Amino acid sequence: MASILDAIGNTPLVKLRFCETSVPIYGKCEHLNPGGSVKDRLALALVDDGERTGKLKPGGTIVEATAGNTGLGLALVAAARGYKLVCILPEKMSVDKRKALRAVGAHVIVTDNAPLDSEKNFRNLARSMAAEKGWFLADQFCNQANVEAHFSTTGPEIFEALNGNIGAFIAGVGTGGTISGCGRFLKAEDPSIQIVLADPVGSSLADWINKGEYGPDESYAVEGIGSSRSTDIMDRSVVDEAISITDEESFETALRLQREEGLLVGGSSGTAVAAAVRLARSGRVKKPIVALLADSWDRYFSQPWMNI
Ligand code: PMP
Repeated sequence: MASILDAIGNTPLVKLRFCETSVPIYGKCEHLNPGGSVKDRLALALVDDGERTGKLKPGGTIVEATAGNTGLGLALVAAARGYKLVCILPEKMSVDKRKALRAVGAHVIVTDNAPLDSEKNFRNLARSMAAEKGWFLADQFCNQANVEAHFSTTGPEIFEALNGNIGAFIAGVGTGGTISGCGRFLKAEDPSIQIVLADPVGSSLADWINKGEYGPDESYAVEGIGSSRSTDIMDRSVVDEAISITDEESFETALRLQREEGLLVGGSSGTAVAAAVRLARSGRVKKPIVALLADSWDRYFSQPWMNI
């Protein structure tokens, strides 16, 4: 390999044993990417895009609004390609993520858990700092390169690993890149594949998918997924339904994945697998279900739910 960036993607698909469902559930092990999450894929795609369009100059500074994982992905790419990195994180995100980002040389700015219409919101702050300082905004929430990365890599990998024998694909939505890119690819190959959003209870997105109107915006502890509003890049047309999962069920499932399967994943992987189990038990899907295991456990060691 010429650099660690070549180790991004081609993650394994692992059959889960603990679920005891009649259709098998597989986990797509995105936590095994070199930066520890699915976001390595888009970090590389966003930097490639910046270089191609000339918006990112050699030795320049990248700034991004991140729950932490995109920041770590960008940190790998920045290290390998000689860029500086500034990450804006909402306060809610774990201390472990801040530490990891600082350890790889990123400058970390923590902002309030402010709503999208506030200038203190992490996305708004990243945008205004980019404009003010002339930094390159990676822009995971708006850049189609995010969707494209999953359309051209994650989606095909899943399809090929199961020879197309897939009943449903389940993921959470942070930017919507994963579900939109994988969903588009899988639906184009086989329109009968169900694309399902696993959403935390408290997020407004599940009602938007299931009822056409945003649900109430309440707090929840799972990190990196769910929102009060959809994003620019989210492709609603490829999503068939949403399943809401409580924090308690997400964390309990994540702990079972760690202890009973050896899958060292974070809380949102629990959300996706809990939704997959519910879908399998509904009897509505007759072929294997794939759930996205988005990130690694090590960024949650200080969070109460890990109990360590
Ligand atoms: N699914 C799960 C379970 C996640 O945790 C994440 C990101 N944290 C994603 C999918 C992907 O997020 P995005 O919508 O930004 O691609």
